[in-house]
Amino acid sequence: MSDPLERLAKHAHESHVVVAGGGVSGLVAALECAKVGMRVTVLEASDAFGGVVRSAEVGGLTLDVGAESFATRGGIVRALLAELGLDDQVVPPNSAGAWVAGVPGVGAAPLPKGGVLGIPDNPWAPDVRRVIGWAGAWRAYVDRLRPPLTIGHQHSLGALVRQRMGARVLDRLVAPVTSGVYSARPDDIDVDLAAPGLNAALTRTGSLGGAVAELRAARNTPTPTDAPASDVPVVEGAAPRTPAPGGAVEGIVGGMSRLVDALVARLGELGAELRTGVAVTELAPRDGGWTVHTDDEPLDADAVIVALPEGVARRLLAPVVPNLDDSEPIAPVVEVVTLVVHAPALDAAPRGTGVLTVPGSHVAKALTHSTAKWDWVRDATEPGIHVVRVSFGAQGEEPATATLDDDAAAELALSEAAALLGVELAPSALRAAHRVRYVQSQPGAAIGRAAQTAAARGAVRAVLGLGATGAWLSGTGLAQVIPDARAEADRVRSAALWHRG
Ligand SMILES: Cc1cc2nc3c(=O)[nH]c(=O)nc-3n(C[C@H](O)[C@H](O)[C@H](O)COP(=O)(O)OP(=O)(O)OC[C@H]3O[C@@H](n4cnc5c(N)ncnc54)[C@H](O)[C@@H]3O)c2cc1C
Repeated sequence: MSDPLERLAKHAHESHVVVAGGGVSGLVAALECAKVGMRVTVLEASDAFGGVVRSAEVGGLTLDVGAESFATRGGIVRALLAELGLDDQVVPPNSAGAWVAGVPGVGAAPLPKGGVLGIPDNPWAPDVRRVIGWAGAWRAYVDRLRPPLTIGHQHSLGALVRQRMGARVLDRLVAPVTSGVYSARPDDIDVDLAAPGLNAALTRTGSLGGAVAELRAARNTPTPTDAPASDVPVVEGAAPRTPAPGGAVEGIVGGMSRLVDALVARLGELGAELRTGVAVTELAPRDGGWTVHTDDEPLDADAVIVALPEGVARRLLAPVVPNLDDSEPIAPVVEVVTLVVHAPALDAAPRGTGVLTVPGSHVAKALTHSTAKWDWVRDATEPGIHVVRVSFGAQGEEPATATLDDDAAAELALSEAAALLGVELAPSALRAAHRVRYVQSQPGAAIGRAAQTAAARGAVRAVLGLGATGAWLSGTGLAQVIPDARAEADRVRSAALWHRG
């Protein structure tokens, strides 16, 4: 065969790629390989594909019980949806905006518009003052008076905000956002990763408020605190690594799990083998490839892409990847309790599309009022019926629901929902409940995290025929996970084809 393209096509057909993990990262990586004609097998340990993107039937409704939206930033997720023929199903959330609850002396108030990661550009704006009070506004104003010379390059978001604007801005505006977005305290978040450009703008403008204003003007895009749409990732602890630029989100009519269904269908059309209920247990190098051991039959592969959560990925990779640390960092655990309630008082969406909490003020971390947020959820429900998702757990704390059985967890979620939404929800209001536990990745914006993941990537790349992707490497959020999976699959498939060629 002399034609190089023909030769490449033949090599593609002869190459077998095994993808370990059938979450979105694994399915996207598999699609990239299947598209060029490679033989692809996806092995998923659970009984369904999608990982964190999953749906469940709750009270007769099919609802997302994991990820429920995607960040619009860069049009990345949208492009995949278009490729899968789903782009006409994309919808924005309603524009009511999110609230913050547990503000001392205030209770609940709309989350102010016009900030970056909760940091206001103008502490005197009425919506900001409502949350931080006059005392907080005066303290935050000191930021404008402090000489620029005292501004250094601060890595910790918490230290920066505390220093420049004081505790009220930190505790009441920034901490609810980082807790919601990253399940992390502001002190643990790296400013340069969470809000790229903020430090530089600070040096230029001489104040943090000035830097926020400059950043927002430059981006001309909404942020988590001003985008009415943005509370989804915020609320559910799942935002992209850099939520500040383009905090806006969109969803899919019928739920995000339609993305998973479409990926599975396309992979089927391309002839990929898709197996659920098969856990990958060990990787063993063999001549020019791998033996993939599972709790079922072993498989031979020319290349393996590991698209698993961090703990299991490190355990699997460490024996075959020199210099890869197999210790599992402490990962935040989140429990999401989805409630279907009969509560006509919620028709008026009293707290917009969702509520973040001042850490420590409530047992729940955050809440999404799904029927207020998504028209398709509202249209699927009877009058007076509402769907709310209550999330528990932040970094360093077990979710309050962790030790409870499902009924007790639903009861706690109901009473937290009543408190956060400011309405009465009697036990008789509860129609159905669903609870799910997720172990999240350490946030990509956590201090020191970028170096850890870069080291892991470097170690994996040194091994021929091996790839790794997933939220622990790319950062959480579909807008991070999808391009990373594509890039890693591209790297692995190119290497595999060259190797054969
Ligand atoms: C509660 C919650 C809400 C979120 N909401 C949003 C949102 O609204 N918008 C957004 O963009 N992002 C959101 N995210 C983040 C986003 O969902 C994730 O970053 C993304 O889905 C991660 O995909 P993944 O493929 O890397 O991992 P996962 O989805 O965790 O997939 C890994 C897969 O590997 C499987 N597996 C595990 N062990 C094995 C094994 N040994 N062998 C084979 N398979 C195995 C698992 O069963 C799983 O299916 C949310 C996250 C959480 C936790």
